[in-house]
Amino acid sequence: MSMLADQNPKQVAPGTCIKIPLPADFHHHFRQGSLLPSTVAHASRRFVAALAMPNTSPPVTTVERCRAYRRDLEAALALAPEAVPGFEFISVLYLTDSTTEETVREMHREGIKGFKYYPAGATTNSDAGVTDVRNVYPLFKVMEELGMILCVHSEVARVEIDVFDREKVFIAEILRPLVKDCPKLKIVMEHISTSFGVDFILNEAPPSVYGSITPHHLLHNRNAILSQGLRPHFFCLPVLKRESHRVALLNAATGGSGRFIMGTDSAPHDTTKKLSACGCAGVFVGHAAVEFYVEAFESVGKLDELETFIEAGKKLYGVEDGGRVMCLEKRSWRVPETYPFGETGDVTPLRAGEDVTWTITGIE
Ligand SMILES: [Zn+2]
Repeated sequence: MSMLADQNPKQVAPGTCIKIPLPADFHHHFRQGSLLPSTVAHASRRFVAALAMPNTSPPVTTVERCRAYRRDLEAALALAPEAVPGFEFISVLYLTDSTTEETVREMHREGIKGFKYYPAGATTNSDAGVTDVRNVYPLFKVMEELGMILCVHSEVARVEIDVFDREKVFIAEILRPLVKDCPKLKIVMEHISTSFGVDFILNEAPPSVYGSITPHHLLHNRNAILSQGLRPHFFCLPVLKRESHRVALLNAATGGSGRFIMGTDSAPHDTTKKLSACGCAGVFVGHAAVEFYVEAFESVGKLDELETFIEAGKKLYGVEDGGRVMCLEKRSWRVPETYPFGETGDVTPLRAGEDVTWTITGIE
């Protein structure tokens, strides 16, 4: 289903092998409980590190909950036979209106990298999110001083704002003032989905502001959801946008600026929760995320820019890879219709039943 497949003269020949620095994923929903073994297995054989999103139920709002969640994640990792040696989880806490300065300092001592800031109600399990950003401004000042990272779901959640405009409005209402008030605060605008996000980062924000980009926002536009029938497995938040925005994101990711980073937003839901009258937002890409990024970069003849994209995030988060590389070959494999998800459920992956054109062959 890759819209890029047939129209591109820049693709390399089948059988071509490439080596890339070990990738790390700075936005991954591992979920919790019995769902962890499958999500952790997929991610840990592709990445040297992955940031575990804290919007579990209940959310990871304290250092103590973070420790408990890490124990669960590590237990699942111990069951993952193909994990990259040295794979590590990166932790952030879920920011709420009542988070205290004491918690920020405790996090710093514990090695927790920062916070995830969800505007209340913006996406899955975000009801405990921040209701007014001014409530947490004093914490941002402490984070700025300690060099911590603020991961931002950059969409307003107000129902009266058109769902396709929410990133643009968030930049105007929240981010523009925030970067003026905290110009040294390290901010990652996560899963940017529009040219407005790209332009803000490249032309307006201070150098401490980065953007993460998902593979599905690089490979697909909103036609994937809405043309040729309603396709709920392409529905995520931020929702896929029109083609001009996809092209802007692809140019940003492959442009070599060092301001854009990997962040898959792999967000599995049980298939029954996607195929519903009120389906959940989230695309599961954890089964082939690195392969999808390689396809996206190949589509514009920019495989040589993958290194900058991979390394920018690792530098920001301080991820070490021991100088190792990942080897991939241009050789197709078929994605199953579903993967097991928890004890009895299943998850429908991106490109279910279709081919992925790159295969991971090893790590050196
Ligand atoms: Zn997410």
